[in-house]
Amino acid sequence: MNPNNSLKITSVDIFKFNIPMKFPFKISLGTSYEVNNLLVRINTNKDIYGLGEACSSLRITGDTQNTAYEAGILIAKVIKGKDPLAIGTRMKEINQTVVKQTQIKSAFNIALYDILGKATGVPLYILLGGEKRDIFTDYTIGIQENLETAINEVKNIIDMGFSAIKLKVGLNKRMDIELIKKIREEVSKDISIRIDTNQGWDLTTAIEVLKAMKPYNLEYAEQPLAYWDYENMRRLREMEIAPICADESVFDHHDAFKLASMGACDYLNIKLGKSGGIHTALKINTIAESCGMKCMIGCFGESRLGLTAAAHFVSANPNVIFVDLDSALMHKEDPVIGGIEYNEKDNGRIIIPDSPGHGADIKEEFLKNLEKTTI
Ligand SMILES: [Mg+2]
Repeated sequence: MNPNNSLKITSVDIFKFNIPMKFPFKISLGTSYEVNNLLVRINTNKDIYGLGEACSSLRITGDTQNTAYEAGILIAKVIKGKDPLAIGTRMKEINQTVVKQTQIKSAFNIALYDILGKATGVPLYILLGGEKRDIFTDYTIGIQENLETAINEVKNIIDMGFSAIKLKVGLNKRMDIELIKKIREEVSKDISIRIDTNQGWDLTTAIEVLKAMKPYNLEYAEQPLAYWDYENMRRLREMEIAPICADESVFDHHDAFKLASMGACDYLNIKLGKSGGIHTALKINTIAESCGMKCMIGCFGESRLGLTAAAHFVSANPNVIFVDLDSALMHKEDPVIGGIEYNEKDNGRIIIPDSPGHGADIKEEFLKNLEKTTI
């Protein structure tokens, strides 16, 4: 029972929404042209509602907009009528109702935290025990047609003011190596370069490519091998060619514990869409901290609403040192009111709102024409 003794979930609205991207975004697993997301609005008997966002990702989390929608209906039925402030208990029920489907679970979890913030009048980063700190996002460049377009993209991003670049690689090893070499020799000696293979290599290829890139000072290599290949990730890491960051290999605290125990990576990439929200993201970060491992935070194709929740989490957790919260910068449309703001010119700074909860909402006129269900 919550101290107010009366806050109850009265209904849940689930909306489907799509946002086209400014350009096709290619990674080693495939190409995206638009994002297919969902908005969850948890309504209460008081004048408070919570909002959360899910981004479907068939290639990584195994959900589509439709499976997330259906799972969301089941979850809504389970939590309806109950206390939204008892987040631990609600998440236990949600996890017992649906296995996996982490994106839609994340939307519900973010919405519950939003209610908690609004009910207590506190911004989410404070609620999570944090303070405002400097947060700078990198900018991710998808796999390009050729070396020339890739170099031009890198120059554009540096001109915009970002101080860290994440490059998607893993389809053409010669071009990947040449690209890193060219950036360092012809574009910038000091821009932070992170690469993300999205599982595109086997161990032999990873060793070959990372050795060739070693002179060019990579900050880390993200998910070089298949998500399940913990043993070879450990072997690769022990060779000390580049720091290794696990992404698709780590969804929750159980994965984090195994990776950390094995010494299979240097960093963990936390994404709310993989962990099922902030509740489990905190557990992953705690495991990382307990063994001296730093974390990064990443995203799928969320709008500024989902990214705002992630930014609050980062602000409250100084153990998260790398930030990749750039998806909304690639969207043709921004339906969000409030929420984080970007200052690209200041190294990609992210500014977090101070209103209660996460501080992001969606424009009413955007919601009007969306497919929706109310439970
Ligand atoms: Mg990744």
